[in-house]
Amino acid sequence: MDGLSFTYEGGIVIELYDVADMRLLLFFLLGLIFGSFFNVVGLRVPQKESIIYPPSHCPKCAAQLKPRDLIPLLSYFINRGKCRVCAASISPIYPVMEAVTGILFTGVYFLYGFSWETLMALLFVSLLVIVTVSDLAYRLIPDKVVFPFWGLFLVLRFFIHPNETYVAHLIGMALGFILFYLIAVVSRGGMGGGDIKLFAVVGLYLGYPLLLLTILLSTLLGTFYGILVMIFKGAGRKTEVPFGPFIALGSILAMFRGYAIIEWYWHLF
Ligand SMILES: [Zn+2]
Repeated sequence: MDGLSFTYEGGIVIELYDVADMRLLLFFLLGLIFGSFFNVVGLRVPQKESIIYPPSHCPKCAAQLKPRDLIPLLSYFINRGKCRVCAASISPIYPVMEAVTGILFTGVYFLYGFSWETLMALLFVSLLVIVTVSDLAYRLIPDKVVFPFWGLFLVLRFFIHPNETYVAHLIGMALGFILFYLIAVVSRGGMGGGDIKLFAVVGLYLGYPLLLLTILLSTLLGTFYGILVMIFKGAGRKTEVPFGPFIALGSILAMFRGYAIIEWYWHLF
C-alpha cells in the first residue's frame, strides 16, 4: 500500500495522500515548528537571553503565552496578529519566518530526499533563518550562532560533500572570508563583521563556485532593494540596509538552483 485511503459505504475510495506527499507535509510541519524556535533563538541570543527560560511571553506586557498561542503560523492568524492580553501588535516576522522555514525544509526534502546532504541542508537553512531574524531585529549577526555552525560544517563537510571536493569547500570558506574582509577594510566598516563570518560559512557550505554566485546574487538583490528604498522612502545614502537577509536569499537561490543558473549563464554566450 503506498498511501492512506478511506473507503466509504458507497464504495467510493478517497486517496488522501501517498507516502511522498506525507513526507512533504512532515518536512513542512517540522519546518514550522523549528521556524518558531529559530525566531526565539534569533531574537534572544543577541540579547544574551536564555533560549529556554523564561517561556515565550508578549514583549509588551510580558504575559506568558499559552499553548494555543504557540501554534506556529496558525496562532498569529487566530489572534489576528495581536497579543490576547494587551492587544499589542505582534510582528509579522514571526509567522513569515515560520512559513519560510516550513517551505525551506520542504524544499530540502524535494532537493535531496533522505540523504546525508539533507541533514547538512537543514542545518544550513536553519542558520540562514536564525541570522535573518537577528539581522532584521538588531542589525546584527551573532557569533554565538555563526560559530557553532562553522565548526559543525568544517567537520561534517569533510565526510559529506556530494557536489564538490572538500578542498573546494575550504577554498569557498577562505574566499568568503578574505574577499569581504578586504571589502570591510577598503570601505572602512561598510561591511559588518557578522557579514564577513557568514560569507565564510556560506562558502564553506556551498564550495567556491556556488559562493561566487551567491556573492553576485546577494549583492544584486541587496542593491536592488537599496535602490527601491531610496526611491520610495527618499532615504539618504546613509540608510543602512541589513545585508544578512540578502546573503541568506542569495545562498538559498544558489543552493537550490545554483548549478542550473551557472549553466544557463554559460549558454547565454
Ligand atoms: Zn501583551
